[in-house]
Amino acid sequence: MASLDSLHFDNRFARLPASLYSRVQPRGLARPRLVAFNPDVAALLDLDPACAQQPEFIEYFGGHRPLPGSAPLAMKYTGHQFGVYNPELGDGRGLLLGEVVNSRGETWDLHLKGAGQTPYSRFGDGRAVLRSCIREYLGSEAMHHLGIASTRALCIVGSEEPVQREKFELGAMLLRVADTHIRFGHLEWLYHSRQPELLRTLADFIITYHFPECAAGQDRYGDFFREIVRRTACLMAQWQLVGFAHGVMNTDNFSITGATFDYGPFGFLDAYEPGFVCNHSDHQGRYAWNQQPSVGLWNLNALAHALSDLVERDVLVEALQGYQAVFLAAYSQGLHDKLGLRGEQPGDRELVVDFLDLLARSGADYTRSFRGLGGLRLEDEKPALRDDFVDRDGFDAWHARYRQRLVAENSDDRERAARMQAVNPKYILRNYLAQTAIDKAEAGDYSEIETLRRILREPFAEQPEFGHYAALPPEWGRHLEISCSS
Ligand code: AMP
Ligand code: MG
Repeated sequence: MASLDSLHFDNRFARLPASLYSRVQPRGLARPRLVAFNPDVAALLDLDPACAQQPEFIEYFGGHRPLPGSAPLAMKYTGHQFGVYNPELGDGRGLLLGEVVNSRGETWDLHLKGAGQTPYSRFGDGRAVLRSCIREYLGSEAMHHLGIASTRALCIVGSEEPVQREKFELGAMLLRVADTHIRFGHLEWLYHSRQPELLRTLADFIITYHFPECAAGQDRYGDFFREIVRRTACLMAQWQLVGFAHGVMNTDNFSITGATFDYGPFGFLDAYEPGFVCNHSDHQGRYAWNQQPSVGLWNLNALAHALSDLVERDVLVEALQGYQAVFLAAYSQGLHDKLGLRGEQPGDRELVVDFLDLLARSGADYTRSFRGLGGLRLEDEKPALRDDFVDRDGFDAWHARYRQRLVAENSDDRERAARMQAVNPKYILRNYLAQTAIDKAEAGDYSEIETLRRILREPFAEQPEFGHYAALPPEWGRHLEISCSS
């Protein structure tokens, strides 16, 4: 077990050429206090959880004292925001403190979000607000435990410092932990600013540390691109399967290792509305839930462009052409599993599509409907789930086909239920749940953050004592607007 001042740092990114970043020290917030601490992430760093009780903990992660061994820096990157290239980006309110190596030989980036201004802050104040830190803390943890690659968070340090957004809010910092903070936008920057040597250096760094399986091949950059295409396609399928909407799928928010990255105005679907737009600043619906798979491909196109000096055009095009097949295979298999179907039978595709259609027409709850499906018994002609559908006749007709399909494969209720409950979560981070934790925290009570963290740790378990956290959102919680400003 490491203590805070004995974390084993190996700051690899800081050893890269200095033009890739600016060295900046964090600037602390007034009257810091510990809002949330995640022992699971502490374990990743070999940190003794007792360290959270020590006064230094808040000093280190509230930006008041440099963590021994760290080498804070703001990364430079650019990216496409809402389809438009922006050359002015970079870490404007977050710093890479350094990379910690644990006893298993894993390396984890520590990134302090909200740590103050940097040369890339443009007009921003360099701060993050308590509200958005809580959303990221819980959202990233929820995704991780749903089995989806994601950044995570060690802690939130709050403060009494007011930060101006649409209204005044409380400033806070979040310690994000990730395999890397390199984004698609890092490579885009080096390509568009015509720095081919540095581009190659950074691509080599990425391959060495994050795609070692590509390092030895004849075409290492091509192999790396093929792999990030594959990972991104799988990630998009996973997002769709759990009803996750990212909200700001700009290329500066896309991780080069294919993990879910940068939690802003994200949201999980409540009612199944395929055109759901969680970011209320996204007037065109560019990042609507049902657009995500094609935006993933769009972003990979931007990345391909950035790699065009390193990889043959034909290789890039062929890799991009493979995206759709990987996405569709993962998505259809996932839906198949969510319906509890085994093997492939004629008519399966229609059965799946018609269920989604039924959900959309009834505005039924995405998560609850799939979870409820797992509890059906073959003998039930009119299951309780039926009442969630406005179109009862439509449900009955579909249900008859579904039963027939299950009978045809000799499906066993208990066995099928176990399989389905392992892929259809009971608990997701509904917007209103996050909002409840935020409202309490803004009033000084942080307990709901910890309650949610614990529930979301086991999203597939029944946890009957927390059943009400799986309920439909209350009227006030249905269409909460989440803006980009965080
Ligand atoms: P985001 O929408 O959080 O992905 O941020 C987009 C860009 O704006 C990134 O370069 C951020 O570093 C920068 N940025 C966002 N908020 C702030 C802020 N409050 N102060 C300075 N820079 C910011
Ligand atoms: Mg961002």
